[in-house]
Amino acid sequence: MARGKFWNEELETLPGERLKALQLKSLQEELLWAYQRSPYYRREWDRAGVKPSEVKSLADLAKFPFIDKKTQRDTQGVGSFLGELAAVPEEEVVFVSTSSGSTGVPTLSPFTAQDFDEFQETEARWFWQAGVRPNDRYVHALNFALYVGGPDVIGAQRTGALCIWVGAVPSDRLLFVLKTYQPTAIWASPSYIIALGEKALQSGLDPKKDLSINKIFVAGEMGGSIDATRRAITDIWGAELFDFYGLSDIFGACAAQCECHDGLHIAEEHIYVETIDLKSDELLTNGERGELVFTTLRKKARPIIRFRTGDIGRIDRSPCQCGRTHGRIYVDGRKDDMFIVSAVNVYPSDIEYVIRALPEISNEYTIRIFEEKFTCKYEVTVENVSGKAGAEVRDLVINALKARIGVKPAIVNVQPNGTLERSSHKAKRVIDERRETIAKIQGENI
Ligand SMILES: [Zn+2]
Repeated sequence: MARGKFWNEELETLPGERLKALQLKSLQEELLWAYQRSPYYRREWDRAGVKPSEVKSLADLAKFPFIDKKTQRDTQGVGSFLGELAAVPEEEVVFVSTSSGSTGVPTLSPFTAQDFDEFQETEARWFWQAGVRPNDRYVHALNFALYVGGPDVIGAQRTGALCIWVGAVPSDRLLFVLKTYQPTAIWASPSYIIALGEKALQSGLDPKKDLSINKIFVAGEMGGSIDATRRAITDIWGAELFDFYGLSDIFGACAAQCECHDGLHIAEEHIYVETIDLKSDELLTNGERGELVFTTLRKKARPIIRFRTGDIGRIDRSPCQCGRTHGRIYVDGRKDDMFIVSAVNVYPSDIEYVIRALPEISNEYTIRIFEEKFTCKYEVTVENVSGKAGAEVRDLVINALKARIGVKPAIVNVQPNGTLERSSHKAKRVIDERRETIAKIQGENI
């Protein structure tokens, strides 16, 4: 089949009403599948007094209880290896990934053969949407060990591109691959792609001139949708940057930017998105900012019904310039990472925005959240790359943070360039000492 701009034109441009009708039909089937086959959903929905047969509109889903990471951890291994949320016997499962474990015990995510095939079909659509074609050479520089982002390379391969399965290798080796094979596209985390570009420059290699990368995919951190971070990456690489958003519980990438770079299209035939109020859990209307709640519409191995992602964001279902009709999500940060200073909600992504926009400091930083006299405060550590004095740079950082966020940091440490650790994958930049104290009291491992 000859493809033009779209990977699957009919599906990607399905008119709003038809897309909704498709979602409702799939939702009814998914709920019934879950109720009939998953011990957890049957028990909890009976307890809540809700039945799949009562769902006559998408809004009716709001009657069903939420699940979250804790539900997954608590039900994992209960009754069977796959746990009580699973809706198929183990014989029908062909693949499991685990969550990255950034919060607590890693959880398993099972796929049937059909789930896995649809996962890769969706990934192929995202790569195609970003302009990957059979004449591209694509480097997959994500971890393959248990991580759901690993198999996404199969989706890239489906587009016909030549794929190089690099995985997580030391940056010297990756630079060797980029130099020797001259690939045109790469996927890595935002922090890593910046660190890799800096390393290339240090070794006398200019990514813009000496390498052929013209498309970069990032996921796993907020940076891919933060303008200043995007600029930091494109300045080094001279490539077009596409942000992807994934959840190990569903797919490697559930949503991805198109050529308009305005929000991330979500595969709405697979996922129904709700947004709920951060305090009351009440359903919000389209476009309002709250916690994103996802429901799978086609997953067979383990349906995910009303999963609280812990991510704060919004969904926009207005038409996109690109012609795709699937809604676009905007993710602002993790609910867990938000902290409150002097009654102001502070997101680490806002701090990153400020840091990446200041030319006097490097792209590396850490944030420490702590309590002093029962008041929450934050400290920021940055690296001075300018010829200016440390005190002057410190004032610049303080003023820029105050202007963007509304509250000043308690402390700004200005260090020489190269002091902070360069991370190869998900960068751990936020140290929350308040949470560590609570965990110690509760005797948990964190
Ligand atoms: Zn679009």
